[in-house]
Amino acid sequence: MCSVGDAFNIDIAEGIVPRKYKCKDCEKQFKGIGTNPKCPECHSANTETI
Ligand SMILES: [Zn+2]
Repeated sequence: MCSVGDAFNIDIAEGIVPRKYKCKDCEKQFKGIGTNPKCPECHSANTETI
């Protein structure tokens, strides 16, 4: 019996690419994951993607 396993399960990590954010309060630029990361500098949630 010769069976070739043709089930290729390739796990691609999706959706965990860090995005660049910028703090509007102290203008610190940082990478974060998620929708509303906090600034590592001043812990403000007043951030935007860049
Ligand atoms: Zn900040």
